[in-house]
Amino acid sequence: MNKYIPVIGLEVHCELKSNSKNFSTAKNDEGEANTNLSVVDIGYPGILPVVNKEAVRKSLMVALALNCEIPKRLSFDRKNYYYPDLPKGYQITQFGNPIGTKGYVMINVDGVEKKITIQDTHLEEDTANMDHLSNYSLIDYNRAGVPLLETVTDPCINSSKEAIAYLEALRNIFLYLGVSDARADLGQIRVDVNVSLKREKDSELGTRVEMKNINSFTTVKEAIDVEIKRQTDILEAGGVIEQETRRYDEVNKCTHFMRGKVDAIDYKYYREPNIPEITLTDNFINSIKKVMPVLEYERKIKYTNEYGISTVDAGTLTKNKKLSDYFEDIISYGASPKDTSNIIVGFLLGYLNKNNKNISDIDITASDFSDIIKMMTDGKISNKQVKDIFTKSLDENINLLEVAKSIGTQISDKEEIRRIINEVFKENTKVIEDYKNGKNVNGFIMGLVMKKTGGKVNPGITNMVLKEELEKL
Ligand code: ADP
Ligand code: MG
Repeated sequence: MNKYIPVIGLEVHCELKSNSKNFSTAKNDEGEANTNLSVVDIGYPGILPVVNKEAVRKSLMVALALNCEIPKRLSFDRKNYYYPDLPKGYQITQFGNPIGTKGYVMINVDGVEKKITIQDTHLEEDTANMDHLSNYSLIDYNRAGVPLLETVTDPCINSSKEAIAYLEALRNIFLYLGVSDARADLGQIRVDVNVSLKREKDSELGTRVEMKNINSFTTVKEAIDVEIKRQTDILEAGGVIEQETRRYDEVNKCTHFMRGKVDAIDYKYYREPNIPEITLTDNFINSIKKVMPVLEYERKIKYTNEYGISTVDAGTLTKNKKLSDYFEDIISYGASPKDTSNIIVGFLLGYLNKNNKNISDIDITASDFSDIIKMMTDGKISNKQVKDIFTKSLDENINLLEVAKSIGTQISDKEEIRRIINEVFKENTKVIEDYKNGKNVNGFIMGLVMKKTGGKVNPGITNMVLKEELEKL
C-alpha cells in the first residue's frame, strides 16, 4: 500500500474591528439589516473609496505578529467577479503589494514545534451577507465593505491536528492584538481549506481540493480528515483527484462536489485606480511596533521565566486570552503568580470543565481571588481549604471571602497539632505496633490527622511534630 502524506494550505478571513468600513464612512456594525451602508459600499457610479487608516494599522500589527516582511508601498487592486453579494462587481483587495509576505507562526503539536509559513496577509473588503431561504434570498449590505484580513499559508500543514493548532495560534494573534473578536460562530473568522495528498517520493504536490467558508474549527478538522480519506480511497483504487471545490456536509460527514476549478479563475485583477499608492514610512511602522500588545508566546515566556510556572501550565494559561487576562488581574493584586497558577490550572479549570462552564461564567473579582491566594501562601489556610472555599463559593454563589471566613483558618499551632497527633496515636494502636516493628507509618498517620481535622492542619508543621512524637515512642 502507498503511504500518502496529506498536504494542507489554509486561507483565513478575519473581520477587523473598526469604527467605519474599509473604504467608506459607513459604520462597521452589524446593527439592523441594511442600516449601515454608504454609496461606496454598494458601488454607485463615481464613488471614491478612501482607505481606513485604522484598518491598515491593525493589519500591520497582524503582519508584524506573523513575522512578515512589510512592503515599502501598499496598493489595492480590483478583483472582478459577479455575485449578488458583491454589488460593485469587484472586490477591492491586495494582489500586488499585500501588507505582509513571507511570515511564519510557530505551533506545537504533541510537544513537537513546527513552523507554519505564511504566503501573505492582505487587506480587503467583506461582501454583503446573504440568507438563502426556500425560494428567495435576503441580502444585508451592512457587511459589505467591512475590513477583512486574509491570511494565506503555504501548503506546509500535514495533518488536521496541525491545522487546528495553527488556527488557534492565529486566532490568538487576533485576540491578543485586539484587532478582532474572531468569533467563528458569528462568521468573524472563516476558513478555506485546501487538501491534497502526495507520496513521500513525489517531488511535486498532488492536485488540491478546496473547501470554502468553513466557520468552525471543529468542522475544519472533520472536513480535512474526511477529505484525506476520500482522496486516499480514490488514489488507492487507481483513480485521479480532480481539482475542484467541494462542500463539507456536517450532517452526513462527507464532502460534495460543488464546482470544478480551472487553474486560475481570471479575475482580471488591475490596480484600483481611485486609491493612490500608500508609502509606509519607517516612522509609521515604528509607531505601531511601539504599541504592539503582548502576544501569547511572549506571555508564556514571561510566565515560565519570571514566575517559575511550568511550560505546560503557562501554555494552558495563555492559550485562553480571557483566562490569561484574569490571571494577570489576580496577580496585579499581589497574589503569588505560581500559587495562583496552581489553583487555576490544578483546580479551577477542572471544576469549570466538570460543571460545563467557562471562565467568563465566573464572577469572582480578581481582588478577592488574590486575597484567598495570599492567605494560602501565608499558611493561614491550606491548599485543600482553598479548593473547598472555591467550590462552595461557586456552587452556592456566595462571595469567596465570606465563605473563607465561615470555613475558618488553618491549624498551625504546634501544641494543638501535637495534641491531635497523640489522639490519633491512641485511636490507632495497631499503627504504633507497626511503627515499633520498623514500618514507615508517617504517610498513613498524616492521612489520619488530615481526615480528623478536615484537612485543616498545616502539613509542614504536622510533619515535623509527627516526627518528634514518633521518636518519643
Ligand atoms: P487560489 O487563490 O486559487 O486559491 P493560491 O495559490 O493562493 O490559490 O493558494 C491558495 C491556498 O491553497 C494556499 O493556502 C496554498 O497553500 C494552498 N495550496 C496550493 N497548492 C496546494 C496543494 N497542492 N495542496 C494543498 N494546498 C495547496
Ligand atoms: Mg483560494
